[in-house]
Amino acid sequence: ALKVAIVGLPNVGKSTLFNALTKTAAAQAANYPFCTIEPNTGDVAVPEPRLDALAEIAGSKEIIPSRITFVDIAGLVRGASKGEGLGNQFLANIRDCDAVAFVARCFVDDDITHVENRIDPISDLEIIETELMLADLESLERRRVQMEKRAKGGDKDSQLSLKLVDLALSKLNAGKPARTALPDVSKEDRKAWDMLQLLTSLPALYVANVDEGSADKGNELSDLVAKRAAEDNAKSVVISARIDAELAVLDAEEQAEFLEGLGLSEPGLNRLIREAYALLGLQSYFTVGPKEARAWTIHIGDTAPQAAGVIHTDFEKGFIRAETIAYEDFVALRGEAKAREAGKLRAEGKSYVVKDGDVMNFLFS
Ligand code: GDP
Repeated sequence: ALKVAIVGLPNVGKSTLFNALTKTAAAQAANYPFCTIEPNTGDVAVPEPRLDALAEIAGSKEIIPSRITFVDIAGLVRGASKGEGLGNQFLANIRDCDAVAFVARCFVDDDITHVENRIDPISDLEIIETELMLADLESLERRRVQMEKRAKGGDKDSQLSLKLVDLALSKLNAGKPARTALPDVSKEDRKAWDMLQLLTSLPALYVANVDEGSADKGNELSDLVAKRAAEDNAKSVVISARIDAELAVLDAEEQAEFLEGLGLSEPGLNRLIREAYALLGLQSYFTVGPKEARAWTIHIGDTAPQAAGVIHTDFEKGFIRAETIAYEDFVALRGEAKAREAGKLRAEGKSYVVKDGDVMNFLFS
């Protein structure tokens, strides 16, 4: 499953955000550093209003959304790569994630201490990124020695790895995250690059945690975060973790009221999850029937057989064709039967590139 690490300095709002995401009190928010010791993992349904609309039309008994896992990584402070705070073990937990969400404190509250005794989200981001860069540097330098030996001995894989390691090192030594080298990594080399498992090559989402009053438009601090994201080839999103934590415990009707009162169109978490999806180049297609309406996660650009393979590998191997209705057509025509009559149900072959929101039916042998 898709995994996103939540990182950030202590007291920036990670636990609050994580609690909101998972609607549990399991990751206790507390007003002092190092309170969370084990990484907490929470499985979250990807909010998808389109799925509800489809289920209503088809009378589906069950709605099955896509899921995304968030991992709350606490204990990262200045010096973590050298074992400070809760140190190294936490860096290892980031390594098996698909993306990293950096939470930056963009709210001012004198009652809540900041480990660095000041509110400066850019510097918060830099401290964490620096620790990740140092961890990458250390791990690459450690592996490089063996790699060079094998490369000199004529091992082709090691020669390629060595080339990529040196490319990554050139960026890291210049104080830049490894992801800034990605434009120079060819498509063929990408797999070997990913095998280096660099923390700073993971896609990054900067989460500006603002005070309750700035949840709609953000504030001066979150503007700085957005600007920085653009420079770093990262994405950014504004949320108020406090609001989302309150929303998380309300039922749908109460949520709607609460949001309206604040002048918000949706919970910040929905935007956060959507941005995480976009960051990873992901999109959804749907299968819809009387039994269930279900969302499936695929990569942008996946073909129909690849999309079928997400349901079952046999679907991909024995793929014959797909029947497809665009989401808009399905909704406008109120279901499959009418869409078929109107000629909106298309038969598509192996090379069809699935579009976001397609309602799919696969025929396979
Ligand atoms: P973590 O250490 O990064 O996990 O931070 P926490 O989520 O535990 O938050 C630290 C403190 O900041 C808690 O007392 C939260 O209630 C508080 N906090 C989190 N988000 C906000 C916010 O948007 N506004 C204000 N005023 N306080 C917040």
